[in-house]
Amino acid sequence: MADNYDYDVLIIGSGPGGYVAAIRAAQLGLKTACAESRETLGGTCLNVGCIPSKAMLHASEYFDAAANGSMAKLGVEVTPRLNLPAMHAQRLDAVKQLTGGIAFLFKKNKVDWKKGFATFQDAHTVKVGDETVTAKTVVIATGSSVTPLPGVEVDNAKGVVVDSTGALELASVPKKMVVIGGGVIGLELGSVWRRLGAEVICVEFLDQILPGMDGDVRKEANKIFKKQGIELRLSTKVTGVTVKGKKATLTLEPAAGGASETLEADCVLVSIGRRPNTEGLGLDKIGLETNKRGQIEVDGEFRTSVEGVRAIGDVIPGPMLAHKAEDEGLAVAEWIAGQTGIVNHAVIPSVVYTMPEIAGVGLTEEQANETGAKIKIGKFPMLANSRAKTNHEPDGFVKVIAEAETDRVLGVWIIATVAGTMIAEAALAMEFGATSEDIAYTCHAHPTHSEALKEAAMGVQGKPIHI
Ligand code: FAD
Ligand code: NAD
Repeated sequence: MADNYDYDVLIIGSGPGGYVAAIRAAQLGLKTACAESRETLGGTCLNVGCIPSKAMLHASEYFDAAANGSMAKLGVEVTPRLNLPAMHAQRLDAVKQLTGGIAFLFKKNKVDWKKGFATFQDAHTVKVGDETVTAKTVVIATGSSVTPLPGVEVDNAKGVVVDSTGALELASVPKKMVVIGGGVIGLELGSVWRRLGAEVICVEFLDQILPGMDGDVRKEANKIFKKQGIELRLSTKVTGVTVKGKKATLTLEPAAGGASETLEADCVLVSIGRRPNTEGLGLDKIGLETNKRGQIEVDGEFRTSVEGVRAIGDVIPGPMLAHKAEDEGLAVAEWIAGQTGIVNHAVIPSVVYTMPEIAGVGLTEEQANETGAKIKIGKFPMLANSRAKTNHEPDGFVKVIAEAETDRVLGVWIIATVAGTMIAEAALAMEFGATSEDIAYTCHAHPTHSEALKEAAMGVQGKPIHI
């Protein structure tokens, strides 16, 4: 043990950033502990985020396919009956199995799990509950929590005004649900309850849903969600919510200002973003300041401005995504062990797990144009993809953006039932600096949705086959 510390590394937080960092650090021979204030390991992602939301999305997708006639189109006629307690039980089971899996991996890799809330005493000394732990390096991987909307009180137990955690657990299907924020959470969880029978209205401050995504994708997604029965109220902000018994009344205003109106709902989901978790960590005790957005700034090796303290995941700048946190977890452990840990922040895919899925990696068309580079675009509709057509999944397209001069792929955007799976190929191609021609001349199995990526890449040279 170096310099008489209890541990080589102490990681604060066991989300996808923290638990991956802890396991890799232990694999690299470092004596490692991980502090977690939750009862179970796995952070937001496994407990109240990625995993339970996907459990509800998957189950509600089956219900919807049976209810909306898409199964009947395939010659399977069923009338579904919703067993919501069973749907919740399978969600909880997935969470239990996966969080338990991390506990198993900690034991297997000899990572010590320190139960309790961690607070810095100094840069190498952290109080976790009643215990004091010292470590040569401390990694802050405390993640993020829901951004509150001023004047709006979330009460998940009551189930009228909820955040994402409450929206995963509703005991009954609301008659009318208003989602505040047309981002990823609002659209994923709004879709769940729409499919199960709720009337869903999504109120978005900006003039389009899904900020940060490619403009074409945002427009097309808007049409698809409308077709699915989600009402979108764009350029509108929610300025207040009052609750009387089991009913909520929202006050809405045009984003540009103007007369306000009210809207009644049985359930309101507040999903206007997330903010980094640094409260109570004792950053003041180690002289570590956060930036204007409350994030901890780091260098390329995830070092903060305080010697011996590093940070990763949602608590640092960048997209708040589990796989970004995981990759940073691997890299930070490798740096601490004296190796080189690389995260290519230019190639981090993002996926919205609605039906169809929406995915992207690299630059949007708008961002590519802002660089001043000349670009070429190839676009291929899923309607012309034989597998999607056969499966009755016509919505969406693949869009490949390449630099005109070099043909290097700058970004790929996909709306398709399996876009989340398809985007991995685009990310791998971009990681290897592929040209659109490289993708176009790679043999893709037939009949697969992935052929649409090949065709879109062929489209960059103006030569797709099937359109
Ligand atoms: P977290 O997962 O937030 O983990 C941090 C942990 O640190 C928490 O368990 C917390 O209890 C603990 N902690 C905090 N402070 C302390 C302290 N002082 N002492 C001890 N412990 C502490 N991302 C995706 O990529 N794909 C998805 O499909 C997806 N779906 C999501 C759905 C929902 C509803 C939500 C809310 C988020 C979703 N995300 C998704 C985002 C994803 O969950 C986060 O990006 C990811 O969990 C961040 O990982 P992290 O390790 O940085 O932090
Ligand atoms: P978000 O930032 O994606 O979307 C929030 C939306 O709320 C924005 O479009 C914003 O313009 C709007 N908004 C803000 N204030 C408003 C107001 N007063 N009235 C109306 N609209 C308002 O945030 P989110 O959906 O809460 O998600 C939080 C984070 O969790 C995201 O960073 C996302 O990356 C992550 N997440 C990822 C996934 C996934 O990868 N599939 C799923 C869920 C969450």
